[in-house]
Amino acid sequence: MSKKFETEAIRTQVERSQFLEHSAPMYLTSSFVFEDAEDMRASFAEEKDRNIYSRYSNPNTSEFIEKVCKMEGAEDGFAFASGMAAVFSTLASLLDSGDHILSAGSVFGSTHSLFANFFPKWNILYDYFNINELDSIETRIKPTTKILYAETPTNPGVDVVDLEVLGKIAKKHNLILIIDNCFASPYLQQPIKFGADLVIHSGTKLMDGQGRVLAGITVGSRELVDKVYRFSRITGPALSPFNAWVLSKSLETLALRVDKHCENALKLAEYLEKHSKINWVRYPFLKSHPKYEVAKKQMKAGGCVVAFEVEGGVEAGKKFFDAIKMLSLSANLGDSRSIVTHPASTTHSKLTKEERLASGITDGSIRISVGLEHIDDIIADIEQALE
Ligand SMILES: *Cc1c(COP(=O)(O)O)cnc(C)c1O
Repeated sequence: MSKKFETEAIRTQVERSQFLEHSAPMYLTSSFVFEDAEDMRASFAEEKDRNIYSRYSNPNTSEFIEKVCKMEGAEDGFAFASGMAAVFSTLASLLDSGDHILSAGSVFGSTHSLFANFFPKWNILYDYFNINELDSIETRIKPTTKILYAETPTNPGVDVVDLEVLGKIAKKHNLILIIDNCFASPYLQQPIKFGADLVIHSGTKLMDGQGRVLAGITVGSRELVDKVYRFSRITGPALSPFNAWVLSKSLETLALRVDKHCENALKLAEYLEKHSKINWVRYPFLKSHPKYEVAKKQMKAGGCVVAFEVEGGVEAGKKFFDAIKMLSLSANLGDSRSIVTHPASTTHSKLTKEERLASGITDGSIRISVGLEHIDDIIADIEQALE
């Protein structure tokens, strides 16, 4: 990245059209036209770098991809209709029947379902490693292991995985390291610096930041992204140009928004830590977080998600939920509106209790995605609900 993060987020733009518009227009077109037969032939033969069809590329999508590449320090990328389309297409494009994924045990619920319920159909198998026992990773690598996969901070346990350690292991064993960086956003953490080969985001979260569009993106080395692109231009999970336009606009304020999310989240975490009705609180930038030092090493701030447990188990947790007045009871995160989720009964209900505990989710765990409302109003709602 030649300029600073905030500047690239604003100044990265596709070439202006004949109208010399200041900000990018929407290119709501499914296909593009050609000058003549030779132009068309050369374009389809990929002798020319130009737009052909929006399933392959589109100016709005290219602008979004270019911004994220600059933010993550990546060579190239491909944008998807959702975060899960990015996860599935990225893995499916790189894995063959018989290959093995070694993944952190605490992954997004749908990613877990993909590993456990769908990939085995194509004889793609997986194993989990415990993120608190990184020494055990090497003992779990098989001759067929091709990909090392993790998320950090984790969802919904808000644990932290040491990216530097993963980067070293991946390099030593010649594995492709893929990091789902959705919880941090490219503003707080750039996994490529620590050795990641590909970085995946759900653009639905902090990138959009207002809970309006679904999106996903994968960025990384040109060689691997090319494989993802070859697969995806055929299978068709491409991001809509309209959503890409929304996201490019949202990224202009990513740094400002994420700074405020983190400021509010830290204040809320500190408030909860002092509250007598709270059993425990997890937030990466609280000194009491077991991975505080790792978080400080790889993240600029702690992110927007705080996890905690209300004293009194599931019943107390349910009561707390029903007493909430302003915060939204929902399952999204990274929204300007603060959101409360009960993972055990919603996002992670398809996991067994043991699998949930391995991901740091007790039955009474509550996850808050701290929004951009005034912190006094966020705390006031939580305080009255706890009472
Ligand atoms: C939400 C999320 C996804 C999936 O993204 P969608 O846009 O909902 O498909 C993947 N990984 C993590 C960590 C997420 O939070």
